[in-house]
Amino acid sequence: MEFEAFAERVDGIEAESGDIETIERVAALFETADAELPVVARFVQGRVFPAWSSRTLDIGPSLCYTAIARAAGPNVSADDIEARLADRGEIGAVAASYEFGDQQGLAAFGGGSISGLTVDDVDTDLRALAAADGSGSQDRKVDILFGLFRQCSRLEARYLARLVLGEMRIGVGEGTVRDAICEAFDQLPEAVARALQVTNDYGEVAAVAREEGQAGLDGLELDIGRPVQSMLAQAGTAAEALDSWEEAAAEVKFDGARVQIHVEAGEDGGLGEVSIYSRNMDDVTAALPDIVDVVRQSVTEPCILDGEVVAVDDAGDPLPFQHVLRRFRRKHDVDRMVEEVTLRLHAFDCLRAGSEGLLERPLVDRHRRLEALVTDDEAVADLLLSDDPDELAAFEAEALEAGHEGIMLKNPQSTYSPGDRGQNWLKRKPDVETVDLVVTGGEWGEGRRASFLGTFLLSVREPETNGYRTIGKVATGITDEKLAELTELLEPHITAESGQTVDIQPSVVFEVGYEEIQPSPTYSSGYALRFPRFVAVRPDKSPADCETVDRIERLAESQ
Ligand code: AMP
Repeated sequence: MEFEAFAERVDGIEAESGDIETIERVAALFETADAELPVVARFVQGRVFPAWSSRTLDIGPSLCYTAIARAAGPNVSADDIEARLADRGEIGAVAASYEFGDQQGLAAFGGGSISGLTVDDVDTDLRALAAADGSGSQDRKVDILFGLFRQCSRLEARYLARLVLGEMRIGVGEGTVRDAICEAFDQLPEAVARALQVTNDYGEVAAVAREEGQAGLDGLELDIGRPVQSMLAQAGTAAEALDSWEEAAAEVKFDGARVQIHVEAGEDGGLGEVSIYSRNMDDVTAALPDIVDVVRQSVTEPCILDGEVVAVDDAGDPLPFQHVLRRFRRKHDVDRMVEEVTLRLHAFDCLRAGSEGLLERPLVDRHRRLEALVTDDEAVADLLLSDDPDELAAFEAEALEAGHEGIMLKNPQSTYSPGDRGQNWLKRKPDVETVDLVVTGGEWGEGRRASFLGTFLLSVREPETNGYRTIGKVATGITDEKLAELTELLEPHITAESGQTVDIQPSVVFEVGYEEIQPSPTYSSGYALRFPRFVAVRPDKSPADCETVDRIERLAESQ
């Protein structure tokens, strides 16, 4: 498929406002794709790599602007691109406003692409761009991107720029792609949904749906080395749990970082490689050699485990979450930090044991398998089954007394549904409620604080449009030291400035405490936080994990 044909269809999808019509258009796009169907299914979501992959293009906005400027001609600079961006608001419109290298002078022949660039060509080049590392890699990335842009028509450039910066925003979320796969290849929604959960790869599922139908989809399983999304929890209480289920499975809620541990089979019948993934499915193995050792020493079979790693003090008591973060994504000085911050593993679920996928098994069975598979009792979270509110209250008091964050209450009969924040896992924390919001703007401070970003504009996600809507600002209660740290973190993501106000590309997530959620005409989500309070940066979360407009609406209703 030519990239021009892809861009034309995507343009039609973007212009479509109806949900059903959008699904039909995406399905039609899939039907016209040939061998490049998996790539098309990823590109239409603004992805180059499957959702499970930790790989990224690793190219920031400024390098992308440089490549666009170079392709646009000798009189255009990266600053010109930024100026147009401030004016037009999004990079696709800016890229489409230039006539690029190979196309120049050809507009007279009716415009459109003459380069014959295909979807596969773009995929191959973007993979080469992602693979460039080491010295000179930045130049190499710009060269590759420049090479692509110079072949682009205006329409192709619009969507290439958005794809590269992860800002496709054509109103196609994961649900749309899922429904389009069902429609294009006449498959049952449940079969496609399950296949997506276990593979986390929309491209693969689209191809299997087309080529092998339902039998193929049903045959897809969890693979060791291919992380799946973590199952998540809603806020809830023991009373709610016992209202809904005959008994509750209670565990400590550990204040650490989520880990999904994949243990491969070795060649000699023993264990092979151990990989550890974060909640966002990033590979964090290299930062956690001590946890890899614990797993090697205590796991008896190839498996996929779910759990939490927690920092502990010399007495073995849990330390707050911030301590884990000193270890979690570290690339340098790993050995020194292993000495400085001791981590403990608390595995609480088992998604695959040996060759058997366990997602559809009840929690109590999975926990039994977990206990059988991990010989070190300390590495497995205790699970209390109880239908007695007093016993659950005592369990909670004990967990808090021991320095933990709270407890989790789980439906003992529930299956493991990746990515789901449903009613089967409830988290119970005594502290104030917090929400995870993405920073989309800010304001420079005044006087002594003029070189710091002092106020932060916060947004929630709108999955339907893949966009963000504002919900409020946080400013108070942050020390100079913290402001310097936050400025350093956010400054590279600034996309536009006007006076004291800056726009920030959604990338950093803040956990924010609040007293109440109120309807508000001031912010585009329609809500505002009353007394918002900055709690912490959440480097373990990505913008995709922040709250949605719908969830804010539900929180507002349930206050
Ligand atoms: P939150 O980050 O507040 O949405 O709470 C959910 C998180 O609690 C999960 O993503 C886990 O990282 C963490 N957690 C801690 N202990 C447990 C547990 N026993 N079961 C499940 N999740 C847990």
